[in-house]
Amino acid sequence: MRPSLLDPLFAALTALPGIGPKLEKLYRRLFGREDTPGRIIDLLFHLPVGTIDRRSRPELRDVVPGSVATVAVTVESHRPPPANRPRLPYRIETFDDTGTLTLTYLHAKRDYLEKLFPIGELRYLSGTTALYDGALQMVHPDRVVSEQELDKLPMVEPVYPLTEGLTLNPVRKATEAALTKIPALPEWQDAAWLQRQGFPSFADALKTLHHPAEPTDILPASAAWSRLAYDELLAGQLALALVRAHQRTLPGRGSSGEGRLRARVIAALPYSLTLSQGRAVDDIVTDLARPQRMIRLLQGDVGSGKTVVALLAAATVIEAGRQAALMAPTEILVRQHLATITPLAEKAGLRVAVLTGRERGKDRTDTLERLSLGEIDLLVGTHALFQEEVAFRDLALAIVDEQHRFGVHQRLALVRKGEAVDMLVLTATPIPRTLVLTSFGDMEISELREKPAGRQPIDTRTIALDRLGEVIEGIGRALDEGRRVYWVCPLVAESETSDLAAAEERFADLKQHFGAKVDLVHGQMKGADKDRAMARFSTGETQLLVATTVIEVGVDVPEATVMVIEHAERFGLSQLHQLRGRVGRGSGHSTCLLLYRAPLGETAKARLAIMRDTEDGFRIAEEDLRLRGEGDLLGTRQSGMPGFRVARLELHGKLLAPARDDAALTLTRDPDLATPRGHALRHLLYLFERDEAIRLLRAG
Ligand code: ADP
Ligand code: MG
Repeated sequence: MRPSLLDPLFAALTALPGIGPKLEKLYRRLFGREDTPGRIIDLLFHLPVGTIDRRSRPELRDVVPGSVATVAVTVESHRPPPANRPRLPYRIETFDDTGTLTLTYLHAKRDYLEKLFPIGELRYLSGTTALYDGALQMVHPDRVVSEQELDKLPMVEPVYPLTEGLTLNPVRKATEAALTKIPALPEWQDAAWLQRQGFPSFADALKTLHHPAEPTDILPASAAWSRLAYDELLAGQLALALVRAHQRTLPGRGSSGEGRLRARVIAALPYSLTLSQGRAVDDIVTDLARPQRMIRLLQGDVGSGKTVVALLAAATVIEAGRQAALMAPTEILVRQHLATITPLAEKAGLRVAVLTGRERGKDRTDTLERLSLGEIDLLVGTHALFQEEVAFRDLALAIVDEQHRFGVHQRLALVRKGEAVDMLVLTATPIPRTLVLTSFGDMEISELREKPAGRQPIDTRTIALDRLGEVIEGIGRALDEGRRVYWVCPLVAESETSDLAAAEERFADLKQHFGAKVDLVHGQMKGADKDRAMARFSTGETQLLVATTVIEVGVDVPEATVMVIEHAERFGLSQLHQLRGRVGRGSGHSTCLLLYRAPLGETAKARLAIMRDTEDGFRIAEEDLRLRGEGDLLGTRQSGMPGFRVARLELHGKLLAPARDDAALTLTRDPDLATPRGHALRHLLYLFERDEAIRLLRAG
């Protein structure tokens, strides 16, 4: 249960004055969490992107027109618009010892202004100044206060990201109110560490970020922001370490054998394993033989051959008389794995079955029954695998492909289907080290760094869409040579339907040129239709496959040698890399054409240039992170890292290793989080919603 101390922070936003259900909806959008009610903590973690600096307090004579200034003036006169021209501006003349300043209000309420600016009184104004007809003026001052209220005028005012319908002032006001709700919290960070880093307390960090004294106070690199980022990273590392410690306390079971089945699979391969595949298999076999649980990440670039390694891992536990499961996020990926695995399994005598949403009725019942009887050695499937009704006789190994699409819950759900289940996670998206750490903690890692022998480099080119005609001609020549071509259609952000429309349009267009050689595959097709389209392309019955991004992961047609990506500028770098990895799999020379709509912005240009310059997925991933970082600095902030609210890995990544070490050391000394610091740390886990892990503590 959440400590009640934290209740005020988790109270609904509507508890704040002025926020009703309607506004609350806008705040949800602002927080990017449309389906969860907004809470006070969300507002506090909604950090400023900039400031307005009002510290300049010149006399009127010294005001630089166009700048933001705070001035002290005396009200001289009001000049309301003439009664017959109410749309003209309302002006107020003011002065100080050195000059005059005209205030201008449009659509003003006379009563209101007369109250705000009594003639002869001193007022402090802050806003943007301008020169108009040789006279200094200020249109709609941001702030107007009397001498007594001067201390309430924020000299450095935070600016927040906003959303349509929600303006700065209400967000500031709400944030002010939220700040008053922060309770006195126990300090969960190590005192010496805080001092060394110069970090403020959690509450002070929030106060500084929302009440900066200097514009630099709100930079992500500031002590205040870094403190919160470190809090968040530590919460994440602690949660991961708890999950891991929990899994370790559950005894593992060694699965070993002479490697007879593995040898049979290897003998059935039409190629030999690469060096790093061999090494990964060795790592896994060693892990599996140990009585502790294995949690290993197999990280390998697109086409590096992870499926075979997974199959060899499965063969190891199967030889020990147990079962394995391979879970992938999409139907197509599942079929793809099956296509690789089935012929090998047949030769090696492994019994493989499939389970996805598509298997229904009697087939499904049969599969489930055989599974529970132990007549299936390896079950390959989608999310369907962790449904209630799926019961193994003795699941020993869970292999999860494309891990980043599955959550921790789902991982755990699969692992619970057996006793002491070992886990192997396959990831095709190269993840920079720093990210591996945040998402997996100290998971063991095997890397497939080289590509299988015989792969050719892919010739990547960027071409503006206005040369589409030439591209189509070129594709025509490639088709005449018998080559096979993927054509991936633009990603349209708004909806899947518009993606589809774009793909269908391109399909119709290309069909006019190339007739029956052209086919279409997209995410809204029925599974069987998708398979058939893929199969026609795979056998060469069709040569040009127009696709939405459904082909992104896993599809393996070695004969395909041309990849066209339309509106490449709309895709993420790692997505482009995945897509490009669909070609260059066979021995033929491959080409990737990145079509873009000119003109490109600086960042987009740099991104496409990276794609052109390298095929190294690790480098692409690092560059992607870096470019996104620069985008942030330029103010086009994207919403940080997945799963992180305040930490930005490109800026706070260096705090990750200390957070991991801190978490590890803490749990060694205080495995139940029972010491005073342990108790304080529980608060931290709740604050960043990593409290799932606390339940594991209690479950023992
Ligand atoms: P990914 O790592 O992207 O999942 P796959 O496991 O799908 O890669 O393998 C891609 C292709 O490479 C498959 O056709 C597979 O049969 C082939 N392959 C795997 N290992 C080797 C190897 N050592 N030598 C040659 N081809 C291989
Ligand atoms: Mg794969």
